[in-house]
Amino acid sequence: MSPYQAWPFLSDPNHPFLSAVWAVGIHGCIALVAIAPIIWRSRHRLAYGALTFVGGSILDLDHFVAAGSLSLHTIETLSGRPDTHSLIFVAGLAALTLLLTRRWLAAWAVFAVNVAHLLFDAAGGHEHILYPFSSLDGLPWLLCPLGTLALLGISAVISAAAQRSSPARIATERPDALAVG
Ligand SMILES: [Zn+2]
Repeated sequence: MSPYQAWPFLSDPNHPFLSAVWAVGIHGCIALVAIAPIIWRSRHRLAYGALTFVGGSILDLDHFVAAGSLSLHTIETLSGRPDTHSLIFVAGLAALTLLLTRRWLAAWAVFAVNVAHLLFDAAGGHEHILYPFSSLDGLPWLLCPLGTLALLGISAVISAAAQRSSPARIATERPDALAVG
């Protein structure tokens, strides 16, 4: 359960490019798991799936900003992850998404994808996930699989609820529903 040494998925500064490819791949897959039910129920599975896969790594752009460099070697040898790798920042991203799209499902998707990212990174340590409220530096690795599965479960509940209340479905099931008035 050690948040640090026991996590075998950290990047290797000796292979910065391969490490970056690995990071994008694993974050993409975890992101897909976190909101799989939402993607599955959407009308644009492929497009949303691709968007989610890419979006799984968006948070890591903060490494480039913090390093002030586009060098993969430089960003992978930072002393720690920037404080934007935190729940408060991710909640802010979700709030911004809600503000821009007015869609709770989109906001949840942004939140879940980025929390899954945080959980994976936190297992390797050097991440202030509760910034600025705590200087906790990483989480036990077990929270990564358990947390990601929890996100998957919540996504299933939310997407089912959203589908039940969608106007298109109401119109299909109750043709009179939209005709009233
Ligand atoms: Zn990261």
